[in-house]
Amino acid sequence: MIVVLKQNPEKQRVDRLIRHFEDMGLAINYSEGANTTIIGLMGDTSRIDEHDVLAYEIVERVQRVSEPFKAVNRKFHPDDTVIEVAGRKIGAGHFNVMAGPCSVESEEQIIEVAESVKRAGASFLRGGAFKPRTSPYSFQGLEAEGLKLLLEAKRQTGLPIITEIMSEKHLDLFADVDIIQLGARNMQNFMLLKELGRSNKPILLKRGLSATMEEFLMAAEYIFAGGNQNVIFCERGIRTFESMIRNNLDISAIPLIKMFSHLPIIVDPSHAAGRRDMVQPLSRAAIAAGADGLIIEAHNNPRCALCDGAQSLDLPQFDAVMADIKRRAEFEGRVMEG
Ligand code: PEP
Ligand code: MN
Repeated sequence: MIVVLKQNPEKQRVDRLIRHFEDMGLAINYSEGANTTIIGLMGDTSRIDEHDVLAYEIVERVQRVSEPFKAVNRKFHPDDTVIEVAGRKIGAGHFNVMAGPCSVESEEQIIEVAESVKRAGASFLRGGAFKPRTSPYSFQGLEAEGLKLLLEAKRQTGLPIITEIMSEKHLDLFADVDIIQLGARNMQNFMLLKELGRSNKPILLKRGLSATMEEFLMAAEYIFAGGNQNVIFCERGIRTFESMIRNNLDISAIPLIKMFSHLPIIVDPSHAAGRRDMVQPLSRAAIAAGADGLIIEAHNNPRCALCDGAQSLDLPQFDAVMADIKRRAEFEGRVMEG
């Protein structure tokens, strides 16, 4: 349920109303926007008599929210949320490109890629240290050593970093990571979602391989329920019957998330397609559909990559794609961060 307040409500009266709801055992989500102030209520609101609430002088109207996702729901927060990380803004027209290899492989590799993608205009460096691989015999990532190398690349280039977490046991290792990526295979790892909810790190939440929009939104709700409101959605394609591409990029996820949630959404064209020749057209589609950014795999030597080489752009290809992205994002009125 949301309680929409009249313009410029007196603070004391707001506090009194919030206390009233807290005494009923409800969780509160308070949102003060440009035009509206909303008290969002979570928990068992069936006992609330709307007339009692309307009797408070500061209350404009009361609305029941039928969707199971509440705090991430745009009804609870009509304005776009902007996530601020390391001096970059994500969302509400601020456009970010996160780029780097699928996996951190060596110091030379990650530094070369970081310097190059930074020059091209990327605002974050990506790179996996803990890798969720289908086969236990495939390269599993450099793990803690990989995180150290990412931090070294951050130190040398100034690029903030984003990398995937696979277990809540590793959270301490991620203390200096700027954005924690929760991978598609863990979108419904509820223990991990709860732990990330208790942390204060921005989370890039990737859509599960077969997740519905509602499941995607509910995963973000888990993180919010723990108190962490820094969530960025990432559409990275869903599995279908098609075999010529790795996944199918669900372009409709972008306007849908924007309709139903106030949180930013970025697109991963690399994992969506699984092939580098689709990265540019899918990036264009994402920008046109309203995405707040892109996360793209780029490698200094894709043919020798230990993971996802076929979908990785080499560095000159990334330069060209990035120049195209900038032109198109600016044409669509986005502000490039970097
Ligand atoms: C990745 O970003 O390298 C990755 C494993 O992505 P996803 O979880 O979307 O498959
Ligand atoms: Mn990858």
